[in-house]
Amino acid sequence: METAIAQPWSKIWNLHVPPKVKCFCWQLASAFLPTRDALAAKRVAYALDCHMCRVEAESAIHLFAYCVEARRIWNNLGLLQLSAYTDVDSLPKFVLACWGIWTSRHDNVWRECAFDSPLMVQRALSFLDSWRMANDTLTVPVVGEGTGRWMRPQAGSGVKELASQIGDVNFRFVKRSANCAAHTVAREAFSVSGCGEWFDTLPSFLVSVLDSDLMN
Ligand SMILES: [Zn+2]
Repeated sequence: METAIAQPWSKIWNLHVPPKVKCFCWQLASAFLPTRDALAAKRVAYALDCHMCRVEAESAIHLFAYCVEARRIWNNLGLLQLSAYTDVDSLPKFVLACWGIWTSRHDNVWRECAFDSPLMVQRALSFLDSWRMANDTLTVPVVGEGTGRWMRPQAGSGVKELASQIGDVNFRFVKRSANCAAHTVAREAFSVSGCGEWFDTLPSFLVSVLDSDLMN
């Protein structure tokens, strides 16, 4: 892990993983994750125990390397050897599992979900598979080698085709000024490391935007 963190930038941005996972990696490598030891250093009152082992104090190095549960995960994934992290196939699996550990922490803190290692790993890796499947399918062809010119996707491919499989999704053109909520959600998606779902309550970052929509 220390080897992976020493020179992380080019590897992080070149990884074939979802953008929000790259942002999570950047936060981790930059020591920007709000782990409990980091919050305590900023005098934010909070329990210090790791959500996985419930024994040690939580820090980034503990969560992703030293925790007994983390080591069990790396062992089960065949990633216990440090050299495996530089492997082109193993590195995406490693960062997705790290992202899974972080999102399981989010679910534990905000939804009081108990930590479930096999479920967490399964969700993280299937998220990677699903993203790659969708991303590879939606790759836009270019005209001529190296020209970089955009071509209209063939019929039967693209976002509309994907949305038609979900059902009850409509697309309409609106003015950019009338689309502030969508821009806000998209911007927020890049700044959070875990999953976010809102069913009954409005996320705080959307309150002022929707208030403004209602007033105009
Ligand atoms: Zn632990």
